[in-house]
Amino acid sequence: MKILADYSLDNLKELMVSLGEKPFRAGQIFRNIHNGKGITEMTDISKALKEKLLSEFCDNPIQIIKELVSKDGTKKYLFKLYDGNVIEGVLMNYKYGNTLCVSTQVGCRMGCTFCASTLGGLVRNLSSGEILSEILAVNRHIGGDINKRQITNVVLMGSGEPLDNYDNVVNFLRLLSCPDGINISPRNVSLSTCGLVPKMIALADEGLPVNLTLSLHSPFDEERKKIMPIANSYKVSEIIGALDNYFEKTGRRYYLEYSLIQGVNDTELCAKELQRLFKSKPCHINLIRLNSVKEKSLIATTDKKADEFMKKLEKLGLSVTLRRRMGDDIDGACGQLRRRYIEGDSDN
Ligand code: SAH
Repeated sequence: MKILADYSLDNLKELMVSLGEKPFRAGQIFRNIHNGKGITEMTDISKALKEKLLSEFCDNPIQIIKELVSKDGTKKYLFKLYDGNVIEGVLMNYKYGNTLCVSTQVGCRMGCTFCASTLGGLVRNLSSGEILSEILAVNRHIGGDINKRQITNVVLMGSGEPLDNYDNVVNFLRLLSCPDGINISPRNVSLSTCGLVPKMIALADEGLPVNLTLSLHSPFDEERKKIMPIANSYKVSEIIGALDNYFEKTGRRYYLEYSLIQGVNDTELCAKELQRLFKSKPCHINLIRLNSVKEKSLIATTDKKADEFMKKLEKLGLSVTLRRRMGDDIDGACGQLRRRYIEGDSDN
């Protein structure tokens, strides 16, 4: 099934010409799509054109099938795709606006030991238009459109490894920042990766200066290998080379994600090694306590120890924040809600 949201404005113009329509129709369709509308809901398009489109394209590639609201205001969405697969997204309210965390793949094949997204492996990549549609659907759901955008920031931190779906993610970033559409700048997007070095290097040359975030979780290669299989392919030193290259090419400082796991990566030794590796680097460390996943045995660092670890890093001269765990009560961590849905939990 083809997806209209995959199309840029230029692609749509070509499509209109090929269907014997006037090219200006492309702009109308593009705006409708970016307002989150399906083909049948487009009121300024003729019935005949809608029928032509519906014979080739799915009406709306994404439906919100569930919304969960956390005590802290965080909202979690479960989306159904046109082929019946489900993915999830999380909406977080901050002082400066609304951030939507989106999925880039159905499942994931990276195999990180603490992460729920990877439990069933990779099912398939999301297309650029499907990733975009997560944002368009939620923006519309909370009362926004392309003139009155409700979502200001996007983080690619839902299920999936964005750089394992490189072409679609890059195309998605181009669609997202198109001035005729939802128009969210790459500067308001954070892309998180477990460290696919060649793709990190390629991304630096795309002219899409997103905030690059690296899931580090341990400064030691041997420890990293135990929790993140990708560490068998790329060393921390190679990853740092790719991050520095990203800074040189884009002028954007980078971020390190560090989920605190009791006794694994919250030790004095880890703090010292983080200092040695990153003290003089243009980076910021985001600490978060591990979200417990029922299928996994790893335990989160306690609040008290997490606070001590943060203060230790600060003292060592690193730029660091300990993030609140948002939406913990609604399965906020990657892949947890989808997992429960697939397992047929009666609450879902
Ligand atoms: N694949 C990408 C993006 C998705 S995950 C990546 O690896 O960066 C977004 C972040 O959540 C990553 O830093 C990931 O390591 C982290 N994460 C996954 N499961 C978690 C859990 N149970 N508790 C805390 N953080 C988790």
